[in-house]
Amino acid sequence: ATAARQSLKVGLIPADGIGKEVIPAARAAIEALGSDIPKLEFVDLQAGFELFARRGTALPEETVEALQECNCALFGAVSSPIKKVTGYSSPIVALRKKLDLYANVRPVVSVAANAGDKPSVDLVVVRENTECLYVKQETITSSETGREARATRLITERASRRIGKMAFEIALKRPRKQVTIIHKSNVLSVTDGLFRESVRGVSHSAEDGRYDGVRIEEQIVDSAVYRLFREPQIYDVMVAPNLYGDIISDAAAALVGSLGLVPSVNAGDNFVMGEPVHGSAPDIAGQDIANPLASIRSAALMLRHLGYGRGADRIDSAVDTVIREGQVLTPDLGGKSKTQEVVAEVLKRI
Ligand code: ATP
Ligand code: MG
Repeated sequence: ATAARQSLKVGLIPADGIGKEVIPAARAAIEALGSDIPKLEFVDLQAGFELFARRGTALPEETVEALQECNCALFGAVSSPIKKVTGYSSPIVALRKKLDLYANVRPVVSVAANAGDKPSVDLVVVRENTECLYVKQETITSSETGREARATRLITERASRRIGKMAFEIALKRPRKQVTIIHKSNVLSVTDGLFRESVRGVSHSAEDGRYDGVRIEEQIVDSAVYRLFREPQIYDVMVAPNLYGDIISDAAAALVGSLGLVPSVNAGDNFVMGEPVHGSAPDIAGQDIANPLASIRSAALMLRHLGYGRGADRIDSAVDTVIREGQVLTPDLGGKSKTQEVVAEVLKRI
């Protein structure tokens, strides 16, 4: 499908706070690629809490419709109100549902001191994004001894298989080709047992032995976190149900420093949306000091998912060079440079 694409239509949703500063940076990085990608068309779209405050909707129908005409999108960040606001619900959560973006893919990579050296951390967390405890079916009852709260945890074979397939596909494109299944089936043998078995099943049932070259490991979630901090180099692709994936991906991000560096994509079978891991950072918004590198890397990751690995590599290596040289960095990385200066430096390298 990749080779056949004549042009690439990219939805841009900066949304709130520093999203408005870092999404234009991601766009500029893609535009700088020139011939390594098809002809580009960008579509500016609205969503977010600031929009909700103005118009009473955080995700207008026209934004969803326009996205359905796009090949991919870049999302900035939404501010989350501290108190519950009537009528407001998170547009990013809604978009994941509407576009069936069932996987959250988060590569965590350290930058080696010298170009060409192996990074000490180079892994990808592939988190299931639609079920587990996030089905949010909670009840509370009263008994003689006090209240009792219960939550339902849903694990389906279908969702576990498709996230497994996503993990294997990602592993195939990486040199080590290893997938570690994260679970707790020593305690939750039914739900986590089904997850583990379904992910393994993807490999066994693949036609033409597509995944024969991918090594499957597994790890109980608690010891996985321990080993992640002690010896992160043992991991390549980690695949996990929603809640474990949430915790592991934040923990892994801590291994490589600033939130301003970590990219992600929300991916489904027909659509991919890049999104920096950080939020809208209201404390630094509008000051031209937000680190644009997480968004720029999210653009690269989005391109990689669409099959444009060469373009993605060019962006990633430009970012790595700027970090390694350490001359032009935003304050979160100990630098003194403005967002715009960092962007200019990355564009020059691309
Ligand atoms: P939100 O509700 O949107 O998540 P937040 O207040 O939790 O907002 P985050 O964006 O999650 O803010 O950021 C947490 C901290 O990290 C803030 O102090 C913020 O300034 C800093 N930070 C986040 N992203 C960046 C970035 N791209 N560059 C520099 N600092 C950042
Ligand atoms: Mg936050």
